[in-house]
Amino acid sequence: MGFNQKEADKLLADTGRRCCICGLLHSVQLHHIVPVEEGGTDDIDNAIPLCPNCHDEVHGHHASGRTTRTYTANELKLHRQGTIELASKEKTWSPGDPAWEDDKDLLLFYAQCLDRPAFRTHFDQELSFSAFDKAMEDTLIAFNTGYWRTRDGAVIERAKGKVHIVHPPWREKVERVVEIIEDVRTRFREAVGFNRMLYDYHRGHPGDFEFDRQIGKHFRSDRDLGDWMDTQRQEAIETMNSILQEIGYQSLRGIGQW
Ligand SMILES: [Zn+2]
Repeated sequence: MGFNQKEADKLLADTGRRCCICGLLHSVQLHHIVPVEEGGTDDIDNAIPLCPNCHDEVHGHHASGRTTRTYTANELKLHRQGTIELASKEKTWSPGDPAWEDDKDLLLFYAQCLDRPAFRTHFDQELSFSAFDKAMEDTLIAFNTGYWRTRDGAVIERAKGKVHIVHPPWREKVERVVEIIEDVRTRFREAVGFNRMLYDYHRGHPGDFEFDRQIGKHFRSDRDLGDWMDTQRQEAIETMNSILQEIGYQSLRGIGQW
């Protein structure tokens, strides 16, 4: 069986052929909200466009030994509805209109998230590597969800996640920024790997003295790692700046600029 082809085409068109969870455009296919083996039907109301990654995540409970997020049917329908609304705004998007203003507000929020010491300090001059890692993590959360961690550790909703950016070229650039920060985090963790237990033990305690003392010694003398970390973060800043320029907002300072 499968979904009715005409209805399926219409749903893909209405959602701009975008994954309803992450907003990406590649390899998007219709999937069942309630899987057929769990009694789901081929009614179009049970269909949602998803990319392969998000599809895996949605039905992650079928894979054993993995901790994945599971979505309720209702939550998935809300994602689908939101994507349809976004796609319809995208069709009429133009500078100065309400959707453009919303995009601008989101972009200013993301810009603020990058406007912090962890994106200005040369890696080999970083004082606290636990704080550095925390800053990368918080920045990713902010871009992905719009939630921001305040100085006293509280997490508050300040905006929305990057999937809500209407204008596709801006969304792609913001995706790129996020990709870079994810790479930075991955490489940081790989580099920390030799001292994994120490790292896990101290996670969640930014500025922890013992972690920073041991890791710091090692990291500050690793020239290749430092150069790579600086180049990556500089690219993230420049990518963000190229959007800020378009909306007439002041550029962010880059690595080594205070
Ligand atoms: Zn996706």
